[in-house]
Order: sequence, then structure tokens, then C-alpha cells
Amino acid sequence: MNRRKQIYEGKAKVLFQGPEPGTIVQYFKDDATAFNNKKKGTITGKGVLNNRISELLMVRLGEIGIPTHFIKRLNMREQLVREVEIIPLEVVVRNVAAGTLSQRLGIEEGTMLPRSILEYYLKNDSLGDPMVSEEHISCFSWATHQELDEIVNMALRINDFLSGLFLGIGIRLVDFKIEFGRWYNGDDMRVVLADEISPDSCRLWDLKTNEKMDKDRFRRDLGKVEEAYQEVARRLGILPESGPSDIQGTKAIQ
Ligand code: UDP
Repeated sequence: MNRRKQIYEGKAKVLFQGPEPGTIVQYFKDDATAFNNKKKGTITGKGVLNNRISELLMVRLGEIGIPTHFIKRLNMREQLVREVEIIPLEVVVRNVAAGTLSQRLGIEEGTMLPRSILEYYLKNDSLGDPMVSEEHISCFSWATHQELDEIVNMALRINDFLSGLFLGIGIRLVDFKIEFGRWYNGDDMRVVLADEISPDSCRLWDLKTNEKMDKDRFRRDLGKVEEAYQEVARRLGILPESGPSDIQGTKAIQ
């Protein structure tokens, strides 16, 4: 890993300069954080699973015409992506009340929402990622009207597609967070889906039991965190044949 120039280290990923100009290598760590970095820990094998899960979801979304930054997976913990200028917004889509929506508005967790809700948060750790409105976004030029239109359209399509994909494997997509970036290609600029989509950034509940299969197991100390991520991967059909022991083996490439 030392050969490559590190560009950025985030909470769950490290970004390195890619082999070609305009490319980046995303390395998925096992580190987990919650509550704006106040809670820290490790989920063994998480990086390997998130790399595979995010690959699968990005590829499938690409197949329905959602432009993404994803190029290809390189190995157990790394994927090659296009270099983009990240739009400084976390876009949250909700189908069922949970998390901060339940806390702020007193809506019981698990209440089905009559329609999907879109929320925006400013990506700014020192401010604690405050919620912002479209007015703030255009006033402070974090995204143009046209970009926001594209983001809303893509977010709703992504939600419909992923809700169906997860329902097909007995999982309810309660809510999720996505990020977008500007991909400059010559004179052309496109808004593309960036970052990752994984159980770190989604709430996934078992359809039959409502059991949580995502980072809430870590946030709320529910135990069996590794197992939950493995179960999502297994249902998506991407857990190695030999099971979780293969995933532990990836320490060799850390
Ligand atoms: N989320 C995320 N990163 C964040 C904040 C939220 O990936 O910094 C995801 C979270 O996993 C959930 C959705 O966005 O799937 C909505 O999160 P919420 O606003 O309820 O906040 P949380 O309870 O996660 O702090």
C-alpha cells in the first residue's frame, strides 16, 4: 500500500491515487464509527463485505442506467473508482421511520411512511452534519438547481430499485444515505453516484422478524454485528463458498 499516494483517510475508507489519471482506489477498512465519531470500534471482515456489497449494488444500479463512480473491484478490500468532486451533501432516503427521524419528530420506529422522504445533510463533521434544505443548498451553491433535480431523480430511482432488490431477499430497506459527485470528462460534467452503499450506510431489517442487519447493531450494542453483515452478503449471493473463515483470511492484505 505504500507505493501509492494516500489522498484521504475517512472513517471507514482510505482513498489512494489510482493507476490512471482520474482514477482512485477505495480501500475498505474494518473500522466503524457512530454518533459523529464519539463511538469507535472494529467490525471484523466488514471492509471485505462492504467492498463486495457496494460493488454488487453499484453494478446493478449501473445496469438500470444510474451513472456511478464504480469502475471495478481490484481485490478483497479495494475497488477502482472514477475521481469525482464530491458534492458536500449526504442524501438520505427513508421508507420507514427510524433513527433521527423517530428521535426528532417522535414518530415510532418502524412506522411505514406513506411516501418516501428525502433529506439532505451538509457533509461537515465539525458541525455534526446538520440537516439543510434545498434553499440552503442553492443559496450557498453546494449544488445547482439542475444538479439537485438530477440528484432527486436518481435518489428516488435508486430507492425503488434497491427496495425491490432487498425485498427479493427478505430484507426491508428502511432508509439509506448516498453521496454524489461531479465527474469531469473532458468538457463534459456528469453527476454520478459515489462513495458506497453498504450496511454501514443503510438500515436493513429482516422482513419476517424485523431484526436489524446493519450498523445499528454496532451503534446500539446489539451484538452479532459481523454475523449481520455476513447474512446480508449471503442473501445477496456474494459470501465466499467457504463462509466467514475466508473473510477473516483477508487480514493478509491489510
Ligand atoms: N447515515 C450514514 N451516515 C451518516 C448518517 C446517516 O450512512 O453520517 C445513514 C444511516 O445508516 C441510516 C440513514 O443514513 O441508514 C439515516 O440515518 P439517520 O438520519 O437516522 O441518522 P443515524 O441514526 O444513523 O445517526
